[in-house]
Amino acid sequence: MSASVDAAGGSSVDVPGGRRVLLAEPRGYCAGVDRAVETVERALEKHGAPVYVRKQIVHNRHVVDTLTERGVVFVDETDEVPEGAILVFSAHGVSPAVRDSADQRKLHTIDATCPLVTKVHQEAKRFARGDYDILLIGHDGHEEVEGTAGEAPEHVQLVSGPEAVDSVTVRDEDKVIWVSQTTLSVDETMETVRKLRERFPKLQDPPSDDICYATQNRQVAVKEMAPRCDLVIVVGSRNSSNSVRLVEVALQAGAKSAHLVDYAREVDPSWLEGVTTVGVTSGASVPEVLVRGVLDLLDEHGFGDVESVRTAQESLVFSLPRELRPSRVLKVADVS
Ligand code: SF4
Repeated sequence: MSASVDAAGGSSVDVPGGRRVLLAEPRGYCAGVDRAVETVERALEKHGAPVYVRKQIVHNRHVVDTLTERGVVFVDETDEVPEGAILVFSAHGVSPAVRDSADQRKLHTIDATCPLVTKVHQEAKRFARGDYDILLIGHDGHEEVEGTAGEAPEHVQLVSGPEAVDSVTVRDEDKVIWVSQTTLSVDETMETVRKLRERFPKLQDPPSDDICYATQNRQVAVKEMAPRCDLVIVVGSRNSSNSVRLVEVALQAGAKSAHLVDYAREVDPSWLEGVTTVGVTSGASVPEVLVRGVLDLLDEHGFGDVESVRTAQESLVFSLPRELRPSRVLKVADVS
């Protein structure tokens, strides 16, 4: 039996007679993505193609390509949608300005914004009404950040990470609150908050976690598995914030190397050289079929032994937007 040393200085021990895979659980689809994808599918069934979607419904190439083949048209802005057409807002949410623009074009909108993103919008609106300076921790240019900031542009200031804290200015240090994008690294966000609080000791916390349960759970599972891994493969797209964070978290937690792939075919066989233990996980917007593809490929390379690393059970389900819920059939009792 041999041992290999990982980046954190720990060691992972070879499985006698073979290589192995550690498979993170939970991984893949979260409740918000599940709802958003089903929203578009139901809209197609109900209204027929084309159904327009503003931005990618979720940040996954495979999902977008598959829906495109079925007649979904993805657009960047509402003015690309013919007047009167069906337009779905993506899971990442939109600002009031986008809603207004859709109304002006008389678009029939269906809102697939994740309820956990909507919750952050509500916080932003509420604290703006209280005239707070709202420090929004998030990635510049991300659709979710644009949507949240758009709820209260006069009050929201983007803080892109710990290094951005020094340039923050507020009007009244007694009335400052932080909120965040839902898909950030928990550890890095807490570091940003710590630095913000050094500067603004009266900084208030949001009423509840903004980084969503799915993002947190997937990071916890990766942290658990990474110290035992020579390589971690994260299935997810490059524009998927939570997927990219999983790569970072894996490396920080001790994986010797970590890569992000959309498809199994992107796994470079050279990554597997000298590797005994491969960790596999996937971002919250990734269909399980893509993870299966990676597992099949690893099997072909001798990684047939798969062990689950479960750190949480998830059971959350969000109901569909009202306009797509099945209408109730009223039964009239026979009273004769
Ligand atoms: S990652 Fe979190 S916030 Fe984003 S859609 Fe999923 S549950 Fe909602």
